[in-house]
Amino acid sequence: MTLANKLAVERRGRLAAERLLELKQAELSAANRKLGRHAAALQGEITETRAQVATVKTENERVKTELGQANQKVEIAERRLWHSVQTITDGFAFFNSDNQMIAANASYLAPFNGLEVIRPGVHYVTILQAMTDEGIINTGNLAADDWRQLMTERWMQPQPEPITVRMWNNQYIKLVDRRGQGGDIVSLGLNITESVRYEKQLKTARAEAEAASRAKSAFLANMSHEIRTPMNGVVGMSELLGDTGLSEEQQLYVDTIKNSGEALLVIINDVLDYSKIEAEKLQLHPEPFDLERCIHEVIMLLQSSARDKNLTLLVDFDLFLPTTYVGDPGRMRQVLTNLMGNAVKFTNEGHVLVRVTGVPDVESGFANVNIAIEDTGIGIPSDKIKHIFGEFNQVENERNRQFDGTGLGLAISQRLVGLMGGEVWVTSEDGVGSCFGFSIPLSLSTAILPEHPPVPEGLRRVLVVDDIEANRTILCRQLEQIGLGVVTCANGAEALQNLTDIDLVLTDHNMPEMDGLELAETMRAQGVETPILLLSSNPSFAASDPGAAHLHAILQKPVPRAELFDRLQSVGPLVTRTTQGDAPQIVKGPRKMRVLAAEDNKTNRLVFSKMIKDADIDLEFAVDGIEAVEKFQQFDPDMIFMDISMPKMDGKAATVEIRKIETDTGGHVPIVALTAHAMDGDDAGILASGIDYYLTKPLRKPEIHGKLRELCPAEALPPLPNKDLQVG
Ligand code: ADP
Repeated sequence: MTLANKLAVERRGRLAAERLLELKQAELSAANRKLGRHAAALQGEITETRAQVATVKTENERVKTELGQANQKVEIAERRLWHSVQTITDGFAFFNSDNQMIAANASYLAPFNGLEVIRPGVHYVTILQAMTDEGIINTGNLAADDWRQLMTERWMQPQPEPITVRMWNNQYIKLVDRRGQGGDIVSLGLNITESVRYEKQLKTARAEAEAASRAKSAFLANMSHEIRTPMNGVVGMSELLGDTGLSEEQQLYVDTIKNSGEALLVIINDVLDYSKIEAEKLQLHPEPFDLERCIHEVIMLLQSSARDKNLTLLVDFDLFLPTTYVGDPGRMRQVLTNLMGNAVKFTNEGHVLVRVTGVPDVESGFANVNIAIEDTGIGIPSDKIKHIFGEFNQVENERNRQFDGTGLGLAISQRLVGLMGGEVWVTSEDGVGSCFGFSIPLSLSTAILPEHPPVPEGLRRVLVVDDIEANRTILCRQLEQIGLGVVTCANGAEALQNLTDIDLVLTDHNMPEMDGLELAETMRAQGVETPILLLSSNPSFAASDPGAAHLHAILQKPVPRAELFDRLQSVGPLVTRTTQGDAPQIVKGPRKMRVLAAEDNKTNRLVFSKMIKDADIDLEFAVDGIEAVEKFQQFDPDMIFMDISMPKMDGKAATVEIRKIETDTGGHVPIVALTAHAMDGDDAGILASGIDYYLTKPLRKPEIHGKLRELCPAEALPPLPNKDLQVG
């Protein structure tokens, strides 16, 4: 190889090396630059991380301080809590899910009196064992083992029921244990000794109060019996004495005795009823009854006081409302007597109107019955309306003071109506009149609505003569509803002008200028033969008047609808027979009604026989229950009046005997109990013995007569003349 070649090779080599060097240098510097950038970035990150580390450090410090403070607080709270738990007088302990005690306060531990085993870690069963072993607990009738078993079983319940245990020192501890999450149990022992003692005292006091209340009721029952029996003699005899033709002065004395006796009975009944209601002893005795009849019975009772004041008593019983319901007729009569009695008492002129309305619902079998008693009396000042329903409360003003009373009637009525599921209301205007009313739901006795009474044969147009507009309206409405044409007149003179084309005259008795009897006489004198029905609140007085001969019949006012319609039915066919001077016609039966009366008291037998002296009956007396049963078999009575308290065999036992005999012989003699008892529960016992009805002493003539009339069999003579004398 030539030098030049060598040189050229060398130069090429050098050049190649130089290029490589350049290349490497360029790569190096690029790498350097990259490194530089990385270093710079790293530097930034380091600075940032350093800053973060610094922050975390500070944060850490803060958290540490706070944690320390929080720990301190928790410690304080725990200390305080424990301190509180320690200071409460009730026992307090925690148990873990293995039933080992974690901690307990001093009260919990106190009964154990420092017993070594009772400390944290002790098992609940060991605690129970210690309690029985050390005599800490009074297990009563239970053996220690049984008691522990009972307590252990209870403890194992998911949520044990609280239990009260008795300690050795007669302290009562109520254990309340609550299982929490994870099975821990918080156990409380509450000292309830005071409340147990208090409860015991209450129980004793209650038993004493109940005994006292029973004694009071028994006392009232006895008192009522004891007072009623002699009162029977006083009231009954004075009533009879009054009928014996006395001088005016004697009559006054006798009336005073009778009125005072009756007033006393009203007071006794009121006080008795009120105390029964107060003691929640009063029970209703529902049975089927006729509401309309009930109202008319009360009207009959009030008739004589109303007549004395010249008041008109009116009844407006909704024609399409049924009259028979299931309710307590005795209590219904009592409410009606109170409200209607007040209306008559506090009214000096005008009228008292009983209005009965309601809507029967045959499907549900109920009717909401509204009974309103409207009067034209002294009224009640508006600020006294609430007051008068309070016990013994009356309106104390000049006008009111002239009336007597106990002030219990409304309080009793309101409660009775409440018991029947209804309410009492009142509207009144001082000096103008009052309207007391009540609404009660009554179940229909038979879900049959009253039939529309048929239009009487031969009757088309009726002339109604009455000076009282309310009365005219009621009669007019009732007659029009059965399809009769009605002409109304306010007086006799007007009536005489309106007789053309009239089939029947329905006239009031008492009217100013020309009364009903004078109207009848004038009509006949003018040759008018139209039948006349007289409505009178004093039928016997009207019947004794010579003018009565012109009448078709006399009806007691206010007349029950059924009776009015019955009477109308008889008018048509009788029209031709109604001639002047017809003799009274009474249909006679073949024999007298046989009545047996069992009564041991001689005075009462006398009172009874005097009360029925007008009755055309065969009467036999029995002096005790045994004789009553004997006479029942020999005499075969149509009905029996049965006293309840009698020697040898009382009225209830005698009735049971009679009913037994009847199971063999057949038949059912109606038995009416005569009782001096007025306490509740008596009537239930009385009726349970087989007695059908009962009357409370003192006996009243109208009640006795009513029962005779009601229970007289068809084959016997009517025991008494009909109330509304038949003259046509
Ligand atoms: P008593 O009638 O025995 O006084 P009540 O409780 O029945 O007791 O009545 C309380 C009072 O309410 C009566 O004293 C009377 O002041 C007043 N009062 C009740 N009903 C009427 C009425 N229809 N008209 C006027 N005042 C009445």
